[in-house]
Amino acid sequence: MGDFTSLDPCVHCGFCLPACPTYLATRDEADSPRGRIVLMRALERGDLSADDPALRQHLDACLGCRGCEPACPSGVGYGRGLEEARRRIAASVGLRPLARLTLGVFGRSVAWRTAFGAGRWIRDLGLAKLLAGSGRARLGFGMLAATAPGRVRQPTLAPEAGTGPTVALFRGCVMDTLFGHVHDATRRTLAVNGYRVIEVPGQGCCGALHDHAGDQEGAARLGRANLAAIGETTDFIVVNSAGCGALLKDYGHLLGTEAARRFAGRVRDVTELLADRGPVTGGSLPLDVAYDAPCHLQHAQQVQRQPLAVLGAIPGLRVHQLPGSDRCCGSAGIYSLVEPAMSRMVLDDKIEAIRSLTPRPDFIATGNPGCLMQIGAGLMAAGLATRVAHPVELLDWSYAAGGRYR
Ligand code: SF4
Ligand code: SF4
Repeated sequence: MGDFTSLDPCVHCGFCLPACPTYLATRDEADSPRGRIVLMRALERGDLSADDPALRQHLDACLGCRGCEPACPSGVGYGRGLEEARRRIAASVGLRPLARLTLGVFGRSVAWRTAFGAGRWIRDLGLAKLLAGSGRARLGFGMLAATAPGRVRQPTLAPEAGTGPTVALFRGCVMDTLFGHVHDATRRTLAVNGYRVIEVPGQGCCGALHDHAGDQEGAARLGRANLAAIGETTDFIVVNSAGCGALLKDYGHLLGTEAARRFAGRVRDVTELLADRGPVTGGSLPLDVAYDAPCHLQHAQQVQRQPLAVLGAIPGLRVHQLPGSDRCCGSAGIYSLVEPAMSRMVLDDKIEAIRSLTPRPDFIATGNPGCLMQIGAGLMAAGLATRVAHPVELLDWSYAAGGRYR
């Protein structure tokens, strides 16, 4: 059982407020990190009960993006405090019905494979793109349309097999069913950089969505299954989804075993492995790109320069600074589903930042499925021609252009 000691250093200075997307959207102190810490402390003391409507409203509205942590001069561990508050609320009053239903789907591979398989079918028929737009339902179709490969013609040839360290590819759920092209790009780009990619069957969802919602038991069940499937045979476990990677690196804390700590120590984001090898330079890709940093990569994993090193290995690519690129896009796991109004407000800020860029980028590069879907849908709703791509997709196209594939 956790506690709130990570919140102890808070001196209520308020330096974190300008870094908080929900505070910037509402200007309500209770939607700020400082205000939520006060609420969490009241929950801890028993001054507020777990079913207090105001407590739930303001803690549910937190994106869990941890954008407040680097802004805090006192070193408050906001994320750990939020995790504990949500665990207590879920244990005491249960999850909200929509969250329970959604997490039930992610908890069973037959359910998510069926649901996302149907989604892929709708996407591949072109219906998702046709129905994409503004409004809640049409934004959902936009999210589905945004999972399509960034280019119609994907590289199909294979590189020489690597001879260096062995790497197990973490397949996940959304990535495995809707972003197979990113997995392919991951395999190819790692091989060009000398890694031997090993396929490991029997994996499932990482459990991050359960963990963020306060269902640590559900997350631990999925974590144990992944630990058993992947085992200890490879040098590294590579992840191309920032949200999954953040939890896999935290399996030691979640599961509390020595085996889980060893597993977590072998987990790397794909850009970390690529940056460790350079990465190898590709062929020319004359595109305008802006990088948007996923919260669970830059704040939770502290992986900041490696995605830019990947983009830097692409000759001809013009990488532009996106204002507020360190700020959440409003996706945040199942947040866009259960908190659609706040999610949309935060997304609108991101889209306006993209709209302000001159020249307008061809692609927004970001390494997380939720961000790819959320920003991609927002761009379609705004009628902008800019599209989304994972950084390894761009490197993959560059390698294809540079003749790195046979
Ligand atoms: S979390 Fe940090 S920055 Fe925010 S009020 Fe507390 S001490 Fe200040
Ligand atoms: S985690 Fe994100 S949304 Fe929540 S208080 Fe911190 S900055 Fe604000």
